[in-house]
Amino acid sequence: MTDPGTLNVLVLGGTDEARRLAAALADRPGTRVISSLAGRVRDPRLPVGEVREGGFGGPAGLRAWIEENGIGVVVDATHPFAARMTASAAEAAGLAGVPLLILRRPGWRQGPGDDWRWTPSLEAAAESLPGLGRRVFLTTGRRSLPVFAGLDDLWFLARSVDPPQPPLPRNLQVLLSRGPFTVEGELDLMRDNRVEVVVTKDSGGRMTTAKLFAARELGLPVVVVRRPAVPGGVPAAETVEQATAWLDAVAGGQAG
Ligand code: NAP
Repeated sequence: MTDPGTLNVLVLGGTDEARRLAAALADRPGTRVISSLAGRVRDPRLPVGEVREGGFGGPAGLRAWIEENGIGVVVDATHPFAARMTASAAEAAGLAGVPLLILRRPGWRQGPGDDWRWTPSLEAAAESLPGLGRRVFLTTGRRSLPVFAGLDDLWFLARSVDPPQPPLPRNLQVLLSRGPFTVEGELDLMRDNRVEVVVTKDSGGRMTTAKLFAARELGLPVVVVRRPAVPGGVPAAETVEQATAWLDAVAGGQAG
């Protein structure tokens, strides 16, 4: 049942920011938070409070879900590379006529001593690798690995939360692990495996930056995949604090 005096907030999650937002809103009077996860990770880190799992069935399904559950506002706090979900949220919120905020942590910035090679896509990253090194540390997630299959002259160390599925690169070692990581740990890993080049998405945030510092220290090139664009015209926040301030303004507007 939906209390008419309550603001129902749908948080599209799967990120540290989404969990922190759910925690920040947990005890707010007049606010009910429902966090949504895609259901891909076998043992996800769960936010506090109510959680639902699984896709909605595209923008039409999400619109229906918003309406059936009396959602008053949507926060898209998905990962910067979850482009389909972000596009779907923009379309569905527009159709349902509810405010939408994109909560997206800033991207990483190159610093002195970094040797980063910005690239527009995973495919472009794969194409660039033979010219950069033969021993590759892949940190782009298990579902990206098929893009690197076929690069038979290269050796890959791929780190992921869950085991990857074929097609996979022929010379592949998988390391099942979940951040945050330390610079010391990343240095050991890269040295032990004689890594020559690192591949990452521009995920941003602090959970997985250690590899970038380690690569800098070892003088290794890092192929950085650029983020997909966010839908135009949607307000955006970079921090949980900005998001809660925006929600306060929305709640004030809806009450008034
Ligand atoms: P995606 O390609 O943008 O989404 C594919 C489909 O998965 C969406 O169309 C939607 O299905 C469903 N989906 C995605 N996120 C959802 C959510 N939070 N709640 C309910 N359904 C969701 O997304 P993805 O890149 O596969 O990411 C999936 C999840 O993993 C997201 O929650 C994201 O925050 C998290 N994650 C992604 C990455 C990454 O590198 N992509 C990294 C860390 C965490 P329907 O169309 O059926 O609604």
